[in-house]
Amino acid sequence: MQRRTFFTAGLAAACPAILTAQAGSFKELSRAIDAMPLVDSHEHLLPESERLELKPDLFLLASHYLNSDMVSAGMPTPTPKTWAEFEPWWQVSRFTGYGQALSIAIRDIYGIGEIKAATLPRINSAIAEANKPGLYKRILKDRMKLDYAVLDDYWHGDPVRPDGEYFVLARKMDWFCSAAKAADIRRMEEVTGTSIPDVKGLKRAVEKRLDQSLDAGLVTIKSTLAYNRPLRFEVVPEADAQRDFDLLMKEPQKQAPRRLSDHIFHHVLQLADAHKLPVQMHTGLQAGNGNTLENSRPTLLNNLFGLYPKVVFDLFHLGWPWMEEVAALAKMYANVTADLCWVHIITPTGARRALHELIDTVPLNKILGFGGDYRYVELSYAHAVMARRNVAQVLAEKVQSREMTEAEALNAARLILHDNAARLFPRPKPRQA
Ligand SMILES: [Zn+2]
Repeated sequence: MQRRTFFTAGLAAACPAILTAQAGSFKELSRAIDAMPLVDSHEHLLPESERLELKPDLFLLASHYLNSDMVSAGMPTPTPKTWAEFEPWWQVSRFTGYGQALSIAIRDIYGIGEIKAATLPRINSAIAEANKPGLYKRILKDRMKLDYAVLDDYWHGDPVRPDGEYFVLARKMDWFCSAAKAADIRRMEEVTGTSIPDVKGLKRAVEKRLDQSLDAGLVTIKSTLAYNRPLRFEVVPEADAQRDFDLLMKEPQKQAPRRLSDHIFHHVLQLADAHKLPVQMHTGLQAGNGNTLENSRPTLLNNLFGLYPKVVFDLFHLGWPWMEEVAALAKMYANVTADLCWVHIITPTGARRALHELIDTVPLNKILGFGGDYRYVELSYAHAVMARRNVAQVLAEKVQSREMTEAEALNAARLILHDNAARLFPRPKPRQA
């Protein structure tokens, strides 16, 4: 600590002009970047009508992500209901990215500078008071300056067309890669209205589901299979997949048999290719408090990039903690992009470090700089504040070190925060009948 103080003080004394210039370009870039509209590559925001039916309070907002850090700290319940249950774990979790996001949301949106016992009643009544029609416009449009976001509404069983003012649609086909018993297959038949006597039938069911999703405005296929299995998908002949299918129809399996799962995932990728759809892949850290981290390692996907050169693979969360693997893959393959969704709150410092390195290693058109990844609008707003600050700070440093001019830095910010995501996930045109 002392060494660091000495170093900083020494630097300021030696070159005050440098520090002033640095602060100047950060301030100016920040102002311009704060005003930029965002295309947000990934959200789970409820439709406003569903949000307004909730009885939101501080604990509800803390229940998305932050509670996982509090459980990690030792909190015995994931859903604290009282200040006494909440407080000890909040005190030790408030400086993580998730904690910072909650503080920013309460401070900026509800005007309350500190979360503590004395302010809790005011916080809760401010949240309740704001929970009325127009909430999304006030927060997402007026404050956050959201152009639109890619929405993964995983809680909706059937595809639902989202409000086009705010969202375009991402849907998962993972369910079809996860059949482990005959009842799963029966359910897939019901939902798609397709008979599934064999693997060919299962593939027809996937096609039907994708068609239903396209009708609802789907612009990208998403996968979170890394929560359930390793991301290595082998090329499996249909006859081998059929053997797995026969097995699970005969007796329930503990988990989805791999050869069938692999084969169906490849079919999903072939459909993505045929429909020119990008694929958003979850890589890295799984949300919650317990999973097999290694399953989510980005390089496990390596074989797919060469097999499907026309499918763009948007690698989520920079594969944290394997951010450098994602940078390397995005550098090697024209069809791999590096997506910082969720990253500014998982690791605010890591996001800055990664962005520095990404700009050094990966062409600017392949960096997607922001995805809120939240269920509640206040927190998406707060995450956007953190993302804009990180982007401004990194670019100001690039200007300072003369790697870029200010105009070039602004252009980079526009690509990273808006244009790249808008190009990859354009608003859908109405489908021809
Ligand atoms: Zn997500």
